[in-house]
Amino acid sequence: MASLRTLWSRLPLIGRLLTTATVALLAAGAVMLLVSARLEVREFRGDLAAELDRDLDTLSGLLAGVVVVGDYATLQQALDNSVARLPVVKADFRATEGTRLHAEGMVPESRAPGWFNALFDVSDISGSVEVSVGGRAYGDLSLSLTAQALADRTWAHLQGHLAILLLAIVLDFIGIWLVLRSGLAPLEQLESGANAIAAGNFDVHLTPGGSPELGHVIESFDHMAKSVLAAQERIHQMAFYDQLTKLPNRRLLEDRLGQLIMQAKRDGLRMSLLFIDLDKFKPINDELGHEVGDWLLCAVAQRMQTCLRKSDTVARIGGDEFVVVLPEAGNADDACKIAENIRVALNAPFVAPDGIRLEITPSIGVVLYPEHADNMHDLLRLSDKAMYRAKNAGRNTIAVYSPAEPCHHD
Ligand code: GH3
Ligand code: MG
Repeated sequence: MASLRTLWSRLPLIGRLLTTATVALLAAGAVMLLVSARLEVREFRGDLAAELDRDLDTLSGLLAGVVVVGDYATLQQALDNSVARLPVVKADFRATEGTRLHAEGMVPESRAPGWFNALFDVSDISGSVEVSVGGRAYGDLSLSLTAQALADRTWAHLQGHLAILLLAIVLDFIGIWLVLRSGLAPLEQLESGANAIAAGNFDVHLTPGGSPELGHVIESFDHMAKSVLAAQERIHQMAFYDQLTKLPNRRLLEDRLGQLIMQAKRDGLRMSLLFIDLDKFKPINDELGHEVGDWLLCAVAQRMQTCLRKSDTVARIGGDEFVVVLPEAGNADDACKIAENIRVALNAPFVAPDGIRLEITPSIGVVLYPEHADNMHDLLRLSDKAMYRAKNAGRNTIAVYSPAEPCHHD
């Protein structure tokens, strides 16, 4: 019962409609069969009763001649003859003076089941008539007719009709199955697509199928999923990347740095971090305009990337401030070497699209994990501090963080 309910709840509306129509068809068909079988039985019983009347009439007329002379042997013979052919199965003659004659025929085995006979009231039919000659009664003649043929005929008809009804139901269910198969698969696609989007996975691809209207719905859904995916990528891009230079922003830097620290703690790894601030960047803005300043920031970002490996992360965290994470540079020498590469690369002049020649230098602070700090907040804070030391040392300089003596590389 519970599984039927589950199956029903999983059926789409069209499936429920078709199933309900089929059950209604089955019920109507069954009622129709029962009613027509009952009518048939009634009609056959009427025929049998008429036959009984005819047989009683004929036999009583036949017996009248012999009963007058008391020829009981011929009488018995007549009774035996009457039960020799179906549907007469019993013949009795009870003479007025007391003699009883009886004849019984063979009843063939019924093909109809007992419940069928009981349900449709298929029973033998009997009747009697007085045998009288010249107004004097000589006895009573009774006959019993079997309803066997009637039952067999009606049962055969019912079976035939049932077979037609079942064939109709089977064809109906095949139709339902075909409709559901072409309708369910697209609906399941839609459901799993919607679930994936609800779970945050916007990369959903649906293949149109099923009926034309479902195909259109799937196409629209697929279109919507693509728009949502594009919007989500835009949101991700805006949330985690700097819109000017397309470098990771502070939030993405913190994500990656956090993960790297966790991994370094787990595996006992070392790494370093560079804090880079451009020297005297403001005057470029002021003298040449903000657009030129923007162009220079992008060019600086690109040039810095050429000095780094794939595993390194360079992020723009403020106006002219950049942070580089170097997971593969675990000591001051390696870190300073990369910082120096960046410094030298940025020292080369930039030529803006309108031909303006720009020069810029960086001040770079270096901090080491885990020597100087073992958490993100302190790594950023101390590298910023080292960068200020580089600025104070005259700019275009690299300073490794040291609470005591700063280390300079020019
Ligand atoms: P210092 O050598 O001390 O670093 O001097 P600075 O001129 O570079 O000054 P500072 O680093 O304190 O200021 C950075 C300037 O960058 C301030 C602001 O005018 C400029 N700036 C910040 N964001 C942007 C931006 O998105 N585009 C442009 N063009 N300029 C920016
Ligand atoms: Mg600056």
